Amino acid sequence: MSQRRDYYEVLGVARDVDGRSIKAAYRKLALQYHPDRNQGDASAEEKFKEAAEAYEVLSDPNKKALYDRHGFDGLRGSGFSGFGNQDMGDIFAHFGDLFSDFFGGGGFGRGGPRPMVGHDLRSDVSITLEEAAVGLDKEIEVHRTKACVDCQGTGAERGELAVCTACGGAGQIVSGRGGFMIATTCRACSGAGRIAKAPCPTCAGRGRTDDKRTLQVPIPAGVRSGNKLRLQSQGDAGINGGPPGDLYVVIEVEEHALFARDGAELHCELHLPFPLAITGGKATVPRLSKPDSTDEASDIELRIPPGAQPGDLLRVKGEGMPELGGRGRGDLIVHLNVRVPKDPDDAQKKALEQLAKVFPETPEVTALGAKRSERRRRGGKPSFFDRLRDAFEVD
Ligand SMILES: [Zn+2]
Ligand SMILES: [Zn+2]
Repeated sequence: MSQRRDYYEVLGVARDVDGRSIKAAYRKLALQYHPDRNQGDASAEEKFKEAAEAYEVLSDPNKKALYDRHGFDGLRGSGFSGFGNQDMGDIFAHFGDLFSDFFGGGGFGRGGPRPMVGHDLRSDVSITLEEAAVGLDKEIEVHRTKACVDCQGTGAERGELAVCTACGGAGQIVSGRGGFMIATTCRACSGAGRIAKAPCPTCAGRGRTDDKRTLQVPIPAGVRSGNKLRLQSQGDAGINGGPPGDLYVVIEVEEHALFARDGAELHCELHLPFPLAITGGKATVPRLSKPDSTDEASDIELRIPPGAQPGDLLRVKGEGMPELGGRGRGDLIVHLNVRVPKDPDDAQKKALEQLAKVFPETPEVTALGAKRSERRRRGGKPSFFDRLRDAFEVD
């Protein structure tokens, strides 16, 4: 360093500062000018070295006393030449233990094992349509890993770690050649900077153990198949001190015997006896019941318009599924069908013959799937029934 700055000035501390504040000030600078954060920045490297040197002197009572009394000359007399000409690897090795403290178990090194988020987990939950309509708290069992209690996730017996001698605790071996800094992960400690004195017998050195947990998952009303609920931090334990992953609960809503679901709409089919289809009248469809409820849900009353045709739709407002997030409810769509008697008895045959006389219609051929309205357009003016039906039709 060409111009040497006062060590107290470098760390930004007063001359009567205590040891803890010196360390804290140095930590701040070491983080700020760490080569990982300032790749290829030579001035950051200078600052990093300058701060390391200042800390080296001010944290050592003997060196500090010499410096306080005689300045840089006093130190030179003691054989301390500063860090200006040392390479980064030496500095890392020199402060290895301290850096492990600063950077969380040495996980700061380039290529070293950074703290990693644990794996996300997935749990599939199947619920009934009734349950999806009202929401519920569902109990699920989750198999996951958690940090080993006996070694606090370190993998070391009784949590006892030693500074890795191969890398001095830095987790990496840094070598400088011709201005290039090459960092490689320390093989001895896999970059952790510390190694177990002995592997933890509980987790066999993994740092994690298997865990089984029962969780209450609040499933909101209106969920659909495929919806994912994220339970933060309920996944596998983190690695190298990282945070745990998340748990995703994937919902599957079972098929219902009566109601098909399309988004917030429910669909069912209502088979009308043919006289009712002609004259119109009243009919009922069941309401989706409350889960675990023993009392019958009240039926929904429908007014069937006269002249109802197979495929006609009746929309019942608000009798569908709730929208997720409490924004209203979908409708129930009732698909009308007409039941044609298969095996009339003699009395019915007689009545049908009478019927045929008063409805002297002949079969008609149309294009496949042609809409009734189009047929009517081609076939003449709409009947009273047609007009009535249009008032109810939604398709
Ligand atoms: Zn190592
Ligand atoms: Zn353990």
